Amino acid sequence: MKNYVMPTLFVLGICVIYQSCSERELFEEEIIPEVPVKFPLVQEELRPYFERFEVEAAALGLEVDLTEHQIRGRIAEIHEDNVAGQCSYNYRNPHLITIDESFWNRSSDLFKEFIIFHELGHCYLGRGHLEDSFNNGICKSLMRSGTGFCVDYYRRDTRDYYINELFFPEDEFLELPL
Ligand SMILES: [Zn+2]
Repeated sequence: MKNYVMPTLFVLGICVIYQSCSERELFEEEIIPEVPVKFPLVQEELRPYFERFEVEAAALGLEVDLTEHQIRGRIAEIHEDNVAGQCSYNYRNPHLITIDESFWNRSSDLFKEFIIFHELGHCYLGRGHLEDSFNNGICKSLMRSGTGFCVDYYRRDTRDYYINELFFPEDEFLELPL
């Protein structure tokens, strides 16, 4: 009996070793080299706007690293009327930006940028709301609440002014190009 069992176990052992080796080789062949994601904490659709925020900051001489600051971003339904975005803090998710899904689906590229820059104004820059307006009623800042009386005027030709104001709210020489 002993003489039959031993060779059988030996053959089984060879099969197991062979199979595990061949599976590993197959697995390694199928691995696609991973490209590191620039904003791993941010939902894919939002990433270009986070990138723009860093680029605009760099153009103004500021070094901004949203990933290092653990700024998270996602798109989800916000069940509050007229709220397009939120910057929320809690123990698990400090600096979580949520952009309302309905808002996202109906908005232009520029308006998406406006809201994301506004939320980063809260979540990254630590700014509060500013309802100031020019004499003609146009909002002085991206950081207006949206529930005040000033009128938004974020356009291609006013964008530079508002981004400057976002990063340098104390700069009294900033002027809206009208
Ligand atoms: Zn706000």
